Amino acid sequence: MFVELVDVVGALDRDELAASFQPIVELRTGRLTGFEVLARWRHPELGLVLPENFIFLAETNGLIGSLTKQMLHNAFQTATALPDPLTLAVNLSPIQLRHSTLPRQIQETAEEFGFPLTRLTLEITESALLHNLDSAKIVARELKNLGCSLALDDFGTGYSSLRHLQALPFDVLKIDRSFVSAISSARESRKIVAAMVGLARSLNLTAVAEGIEMERQAQMLIRLDCEQGQGWLYGRPAAAEDLPAIVAAFPREPLNVPNVSNEVVTVSSLEARPMQRLAQLQAIYDGVPVGLCFLDKQLRYVSLNRRLADMNGASVESHLGHTIQEKYPKWFPLFEPYLLRALQGEAISGVEILRPGAMPGDPDRTILVSYQPAWDEAEEVIGISLSVLDITEQIRLGEIARENASDIVETGRAVPWSMDRNGLNLHLDARWRNVPESERKGLHKLAWLDALHPDDLRAATMAIKVALRTGAPIDMEYRVRDADQQWRWMRSRGSARIGTDGEITRWFGSVVDIHERKQLEEVLLKSKPPSASAFDAATPAPL
Ligand code: C2E
Ligand code: MG
Ligand code: MG
Repeated sequence: MFVELVDVVGALDRDELAASFQPIVELRTGRLTGFEVLARWRHPELGLVLPENFIFLAETNGLIGSLTKQMLHNAFQTATALPDPLTLAVNLSPIQLRHSTLPRQIQETAEEFGFPLTRLTLEITESALLHNLDSAKIVARELKNLGCSLALDDFGTGYSSLRHLQALPFDVLKIDRSFVSAISSARESRKIVAAMVGLARSLNLTAVAEGIEMERQAQMLIRLDCEQGQGWLYGRPAAAEDLPAIVAAFPREPLNVPNVSNEVVTVSSLEARPMQRLAQLQAIYDGVPVGLCFLDKQLRYVSLNRRLADMNGASVESHLGHTIQEKYPKWFPLFEPYLLRALQGEAISGVEILRPGAMPGDPDRTILVSYQPAWDEAEEVIGISLSVLDITEQIRLGEIARENASDIVETGRAVPWSMDRNGLNLHLDARWRNVPESERKGLHKLAWLDALHPDDLRAATMAIKVALRTGAPIDMEYRVRDADQQWRWMRSRGSARIGTDGEITRWFGSVVDIHERKQLEEVLLKSKPPSASAFDAATPAPL
């Protein structure tokens, strides 16, 4: 659609510009917080013309000031019908931050309608670079002094976002809808949005997601802790006369988002696993005959499955948020040394513990505990996954010789690896396979695959190919020939490091020797056929 400049001038003169109002909501509660005011041009012949067709013309021809004035006028006029504390967000063009008269104009217009500026947010899109940051800073500061809030609009689309964020006193960060639209399907978008929300939080800004069209996008945003949002799901931009009905239709029914802390989902698996699988995972998590939990760095229970809660003789909920020491002071010293080692990054599997009964008179239990540290992208340990297997009965029935069970105590540390974005240039720590340097030739190419058991080769190659193509984390198990020519089971896990351009820069991960655990599983599977499949599901299968 081509609109002549003369039309824009005419539109301003003839009062054809109208304000359209889009609801902004608090995502978690479904409560209305206010409206964004969007310009519409009711063209006598063309009908409703969208801003993309005239804002640019207004900006480049010195008309944007008049346009903004008209929008503020329309907005404040309408706002008399809006209950306090609903807010209005009006868009400014970045070039307007050069105009030192802007704060006074806004103040005068607001006073005319008696609209308190503490309920006004001014959105500044960051797609255009602010040429003169110094004068922008002065204008922004004055606007803040008047009580207005400032929002950085379309965050993530411009090339100087961080510079603007640092330089100007923003209160709100609006995540561009291009990231939101892919949030429930593309892992990268999810990671970017998670990072943006984290950034907003750390700078004390309110994160607002734009362009929410589907429930599952809203659910994911809630999980990522994004506070507010707008989009067709909550309401399209509407005419001023429709506002009372829209206001009356809120609050919306809050979306059903399962409690994150009750699930297997941890920081890293949240982004790794598609939403649709969460319910399924929860069922598996609860159903497996192994106690599972995730502890954060302070050793607080972040998640826990029903099995472990039952083993501990308490409800799932009563654990969450408490440290293991608070909850089980009597048992804590038995776990503490291993927990501390795991916090240092060591994976420890199959530690046998003779655990006294929870209550006086309860029998002692023999449990096997594995500790798996979880790392974030920066390779910092963020918590520990624990798996707990009660082998009291097996030992009583003589299915596992006591000496074997205690043999399962493993000392092997996680062996770190890294590789480039193409899966080449592999760096694998010398401890892999425990073989001398002379036998480790070729590890830096793809020759490490030669050391794999032929039956595991295809799955391992596929796992890597899929990961390289999709960026999904690597999690695979395979057998490898050790120095004594014996096959040993290994589990390799890793994730991609993403550069500032959103591309994968390198992969980092670690390999853990899980041979004893695998052997134990085999013993248990043979002895317990009915729960075999569920147990299997607890162990991440090779991709
Ligand atoms: P914006 O400030 O980022 O506004 C959000 C845009 O996303 C609006 O487009 C809105 O209609 C659209 N939108 C909202 N929810 C959804 C959704 O769920 N899906 C999709 N696909 N789109 C959604 P609109 O009204 O066409 O405005 C476009 C841009 O024009 C605005 O982007 C803003 O930068 C600019 N603009 C609008 N009004 C004004 C104004 O009065 N002054 C200035 N300077 N710029 C304005
Ligand atoms: Mg905006
Ligand atoms: Mg925007």
